[in-house]
Amino acid sequence: MQNLPFGQPGNFYRGNLHTHSTNSDGQHPLPEIIDRYREAGHDFVAMSEHFMDRYDFPISDTSDLRTDDFTTLIAAELHQGKTSIDEPWHILAVGIPTDFAKPHEGETAPEIARRAADAGAFIGIVHPSWYGLTVEDAKTIDCAHAVEIYNHGSKIEVDRGEDWPFCDQLLNGGWRLNGFATDDAHLLTHDWLGGWVNVLAESLDPDALLDSLKSGRFYSSQGPEIHDVQIDGDEVHISCSAASCVSIQGRGSRSAKEQGEGLTDVTLPISRFKESWMRITVADEQGRRAWTNPVWFN
Ligand SMILES: [Zn+2]
Ligand SMILES: [Zn+2]
Repeated sequence: MQNLPFGQPGNFYRGNLHTHSTNSDGQHPLPEIIDRYREAGHDFVAMSEHFMDRYDFPISDTSDLRTDDFTTLIAAELHQGKTSIDEPWHILAVGIPTDFAKPHEGETAPEIARRAADAGAFIGIVHPSWYGLTVEDAKTIDCAHAVEIYNHGSKIEVDRGEDWPFCDQLLNGGWRLNGFATDDAHLLTHDWLGGWVNVLAESLDPDALLDSLKSGRFYSSQGPEIHDVQIDGDEVHISCSAASCVSIQGRGSRSAKEQGEGLTDVTLPISRFKESWMRITVADEQGRRAWTNPVWFN
């Protein structure tokens, strides 16, 4: 169905797109992080060191840590330029080459993001609420594929980790952006296994995963699973793991919901969302959620 992954061939692979090792300000070396995510049941991880002078612009090459059942994506968190309130930018680039050139003198955030996108990367606007990014700031990153709508570290540490409302403002303005959840793990204590993406791909191949990320063929989760989403006329049918609330969010105040115990198949009306966009949220009884990417109807 349109841009969503459900009902398409392939398997879902679970991964964390935002992680820091001792190559920047994380507390653990690369192999340990890979081992721990593999043992926790993830299928892949992207190491995203801070691409900064103080760490000598690291891009962690994890390709030799790939195995048949676990892979890695090459990534970095870019910090060139200042936001409108004079904070260094934070932009996630997943799928950049390990020889991605250091920033040139005066390179701005939109410029380095574009350079990364041109090199093939998935571009994410990360943890906007954590550092006071404005919607106008975000609009300058016109090559962005997605907004980090959940950052577990920011949520647990300073209660600024939730950014679907930020992304919704961009969607209301006509921007077509997906949303992804991550750990942004530095310590792997309280700050991991709190949010991830489930990416649909034919195989656990880094290029296939990257292609799906850029195309929006994934959904995000803190635990619940979304098995299927099918639009049928003026209704949407959602199949999921046991939920206590399944809801739809759309332009402005538009929303719909079904609440109950152990919901696994829900049908909701969607005619009022069809002039613009909608997305779906599945919440379990512990309050953990899974989120689809937005669907655009025009
Ligand atoms: Zn950051
Ligand atoms: Zn980070």
